[in-house]
Amino acid sequence: MSISSHLAEVQQAITECEKEAGREDGSVTLIAVSKTFDADVIEKALKAGQRVFGENKVQEAKGKWPQLREAYEGVELHLIGPLQSNKAKDAVALFDVIHTIDRKKIARSIRVEMEKQSRELDLFIQINTGAEPQKAGILPDEADDFIGFCQVELGLSIRGLMCIPPFDEDPKPHFKMLRKIAKRNDIKELSMGMSSDYTEAIKQGATYVRVGSAIFGHRKQKKD
Ligand SMILES: *Cc1c(COP(=O)(O)O)cnc(C)c1O
Repeated sequence: MSISSHLAEVQQAITECEKEAGREDGSVTLIAVSKTFDADVIEKALKAGQRVFGENKVQEAKGKWPQLREAYEGVELHLIGPLQSNKAKDAVALFDVIHTIDRKKIARSIRVEMEKQSRELDLFIQINTGAEPQKAGILPDEADDFIGFCQVELGLSIRGLMCIPPFDEDPKPHFKMLRKIAKRNDIKELSMGMSSDYTEAIKQGATYVRVGSAIFGHRKQKKD
């Protein structure tokens, strides 16, 4: 099946889930995760009308998206992978939304760069809901303090929270936890749900779902 029909299928499933969950039509935004795919593959999605995309590496995005943005109007690019401070400058220049704020140092660098470049990005904080040692994100216990730090001390407006549930667990309690942390901090957007679990995420209140392989097919083994 083609990328355009995969996209239509996923969008259709999202619309059905919104309805089932009693949520407004269009309340969930599909982020098409195009990491590892070349520009010619991504163009198939752009030609089918998709405009919201996710990439997990600054360097990789830098090699593909400036040209694609020139060719297609209205692209909205989301950084969904871990960020290092030395990439903050490029990240702020390239992306519209960052989902992975998870350390004070990163939050500070992003703030400095947004000021320097006069760019206002939408920022999400990543929460490590499973408290997995190898995974990025703020621990659930530290989430309220960190959100407060970003908002009060840095004056950043935090649009949303993001999580990646542990690979081998039922994602539902993780989605619920993210929603709860967002609610008590008065944060509106929830970035949760991937190819395998976006329908469940929508039931639990996701406003952004990050879907890669269900649209573009399986990714080749990563080189790094
Ligand atoms: C790769 C990736 C996705 C998409 O994963 P699929 O299972 O291919 O849908 C979503 N979120 C993040 C953070 C990712 O790195």
